[in-house]
Amino acid sequence: MIQDIGAGRYHNEYKNCRPDKNSQVICCRGREIFVAKREQEPTAEEENGKEKECASEITFPSYDQVIAAFPQLEGKETYLFSIDEVSYFLFREENGEELVRQAQEVFRGFGWERMELLRTAYPRERAFAGVTGMQLANWYAGHRFCPQCGTRLLHSEKERMLFCPSCRRTEYPKISPAVIVGVTDGDEILLTKYAGRAFTKYALIAGFAEIGESIEDTVRREVMEEVGLKVKNLRYYKSQPWSFSDTLLMGFFVQVDGDRTVRLDRTELSVATWCKREDVPQDDGLSLTREMMRVFRENRRI
Ligand SMILES: [Zn+2]
Repeated sequence: MIQDIGAGRYHNEYKNCRPDKNSQVICCRGREIFVAKREQEPTAEEENGKEKECASEITFPSYDQVIAAFPQLEGKETYLFSIDEVSYFLFREENGEELVRQAQEVFRGFGWERMELLRTAYPRERAFAGVTGMQLANWYAGHRFCPQCGTRLLHSEKERMLFCPSCRRTEYPKISPAVIVGVTDGDEILLTKYAGRAFTKYALIAGFAEIGESIEDTVRREVMEEVGLKVKNLRYYKSQPWSFSDTLLMGFFVQVDGDRTVRLDRTELSVATWCKREDVPQDDGLSLTREMMRVFRENRRI
């Protein structure tokens, strides 16, 4: 899955530290990220006509490169996180604006890319750094001022927290919990397709937790709302940070309870169909949904 970065160790705890020679800079503009990318050489199979996988090797500008071009920014960075020995930094607010405006002209070989590139880019730890860094960059960009009194927010020295010097309100990065649900009935699982979206592959039932609701209640409510089924025997499977939408996904397998006739919510879904284990589509995507479909197809203990 997207957070699986091999042997790389992700250190998320906030440190008020200085960059070093390995440090990299995450630079974003809305849903675009600034990277150098190199296309992967096609494999022999791809050259023989097999569908090409569009994976790119990506590189971020190093801290030293940024400071060489923008010496006035030295010391004005914000620490994000580290993966192994590489720490990642961001230039926020006014400090980042000039960088964003001029990056394209200053850094040869780099360019603005849509964040979806990070779903397939490699090395995986760098792609993970990109998507997680973008989430933090967008959070900082949306929290310059206190939502209560309008005063400019300040960064805590000790943790990843912004606070208002006037009314003392505090702001932490937002994460929305959501569920992915594999509804099963013996050797069959309910596969769905979303209504009105470009994404046309089969998926599982999914939805966000509401305020005041336990995650188990989210599972039961989403299944009832989307396909009109009662469920029982909830089994937690695994979670996945999905920074593309500030979400923490939690996967559950459940059994249908009683009547398995689907009543489709057509505003949410266009299709919901029971599918035999061996007929579940094969797809090696990085999402929790893909992994749960794969696990069910292979009949692994869940
Ligand atoms: Zn305030």
